[in-house]
Amino acid sequence: MAPASAVNPASPAGPSRPERVVVVGGGLAGLRTIEELRARGYAGAVTLVGAEKRPPYDRPPLSKRLMMGELADTTLRGDLDALGGELRLGETATRLEPGLLRTDQGQHGFDRLVLATGATPVCLPGTGRQRFLRTLDDALTLRALLRPGLRLAIVGAGWIGAELATAAAARGCQVTVLEAAPAPLAAAVGAEIGALTAPWYAAAGVELRPGQPVESVEPGGLALSGGGWLAADEIVTAVGVRPEVGWLEGSGVALDNGVAVDEQLRTSAPGVFAAGDCMAYWSLRYRRRLRFEHWDMALRAPAVLAGNLLGGTDAYDPVPYFWSEQFGRMIQYVGFHGAADRMILRGDPAAARWAACWLAGDLLVALLTVNFPRDLAQGRRVIESGTPVDAARLSDPAILIRDAAAG
Ligand SMILES: Cc1cc2nc3c(=O)[nH]c(=O)nc-3n(C[C@H](O)[C@H](O)[C@H](O)COP(=O)(O)OP(=O)(O)OC[C@H]3O[C@@H](n4cnc5c(N)ncnc54)[C@H](O)[C@@H]3O)c2cc1C
Repeated sequence: MAPASAVNPASPAGPSRPERVVVVGGGLAGLRTIEELRARGYAGAVTLVGAEKRPPYDRPPLSKRLMMGELADTTLRGDLDALGGELRLGETATRLEPGLLRTDQGQHGFDRLVLATGATPVCLPGTGRQRFLRTLDDALTLRALLRPGLRLAIVGAGWIGAELATAAAARGCQVTVLEAAPAPLAAAVGAEIGALTAPWYAAAGVELRPGQPVESVEPGGLALSGGGWLAADEIVTAVGVRPEVGWLEGSGVALDNGVAVDEQLRTSAPGVFAAGDCMAYWSLRYRRRLRFEHWDMALRAPAVLAGNLLGGTDAYDPVPYFWSEQFGRMIQYVGFHGAADRMILRGDPAAARWAACWLAGDLLVALLTVNFPRDLAQGRRVIESGTPVDAARLSDPAILIRDAAAG
């Protein structure tokens, strides 16, 4: 049992200059928060409470280079001690009260708290064994299973499903991907764009079954909606994640598809902030609450959070960005197409590189590129600056995006 820390007698919001910060969640957002606090000269106590026993590690390579066998470990930094914090790994936060975090091993007083508990994969019903790809241990277990001829069923043709299918096919597995929506990536980028990625599966020798919901995971296979059955040696469920916030019910921290924070990343509880996959932030740019599962947000939001935790009032207001590597292609997406009124293609989707552009009126609001990093970089600047674009010129890949925007 861990010794109980002294509860700070100050108000839950604590003194104006905090003396004891507790960070819940030992992923990228938790680690980056501590790095940013130290970078800003914060010299007080900081405790990292993380449910996983491993020190913070990077997740994107788990479904890519690590799964391909090109990488053994993705630990984020080997010199955690240099940050001068107390590391409570293998300890799970169970309850939050004003000024006090309770865990399965004790309690920690704080005058500022950061919630960075990430997200957890959604399970399917059924009594069969389903595997997931979220943690380094998940990835190492899965990688060890991949062998030529393994009948691998992946439920979900989202980012993780596509990346895992890529690696498993390359390792000689017999891969079937089942997707309830009419096309891969439909939830993220719409069925029209998602359908353009379907041929990539076939070319890699992966069987893709779009429009096929799964009823349940059973021993030896999947019960399919409509009465079918798919026999499989291993089943990976990759149908999405939920923010890991159930333990905060009744804590006074408002929840709204994640930890609801304002544009300064403050929760409804005094002195409590949130960042990363668990954070549902108020976007000034898009005038709505948003939650993403983007590495870039877990990396960058902590800089704003740390500044505000130490007394600042900056807004977090990014143009969202993420990438995926699948079937030998680099996909990048920048922006948010929620308010778009049309989408145009830039180049031939059968070609090695192309892009999709979402427009609202004459503004470029989002861009997806396939093997087109230059377009991504220019598109990001156009989106950020709000410069109007000429749609006809934008659809011509021979014209630079910055020139399509110059009019
Ligand atoms: C396989 C994989 C591939 C990905 N690839 C990409 C990519 O290509 N591009 C991209 O943009 N994004 C990608 N992502 C998403 C990206 O990795 C996440 O957005 C990022 O890791 C989120 O970081 P986080 O710190 O918010 O959460 P996490 O990394 O999930 O960390 C949260 C930590 O909090 C811990 N925790 C949870 N509850 C508690 C509790 N009650 N008490 C204590 N600790 C707790 C968890 O165990 C976990 O260790 C990928 C994710 C995965 C899983």
